[in-house]
Amino acid sequence: MFNDDDDDNNNNNKILNTQTNSKCRLCQQFDETIDHIISACPMLAKEQYIQRHDTVCAQLHFNIRKETAVQVDKKHSYEHVPKSVETTQGGKVTVLWKRTVQTDRTIPNNKPDIHHNEKETCLLIDVAISGDINVIKKEAEKILKYKNLTM
Ligand SMILES: [Zn+2]
Repeated sequence: MFNDDDDDNNNNNKILNTQTNSKCRLCQQFDETIDHIISACPMLAKEQYIQRHDTVCAQLHFNIRKETAVQVDKKHSYEHVPKSVETTQGGKVTVLWKRTVQTDRTIPNNKPDIHHNEKETCLLIDVAISGDINVIKKEAEKILKYKNLTM
């Protein structure tokens, strides 16, 4: 991602007391901190963050299928390409991938990453990958986002 093997520029300035530019080498807008690189750089948000998010979701989907006895077709999780709908042989468990949750009224946010149905219970999973500083905020955002789907 970066050509420089040094730690981030912001740390070089603060710890080593050097006079390098503290701005992010990709976006040139914000200080190049660990949190910025991990989850807040607008240049990485366009592609790399989305790719990371989808990889985490696919891994999670693979593990859920394995745990719930939905037939696993690939040996390795990195080969796994989630199908839209998958069900156990007896039909007790259904795992939906990026599908709209059917409701009797219009709800703006009703498409979680993974939707796990077992008996009378539905588990909605919507992945967020954030820096440590934003974990609580992201969790609250997700709960609020899907509040209308809870019963
Ligand atoms: Zn940046």
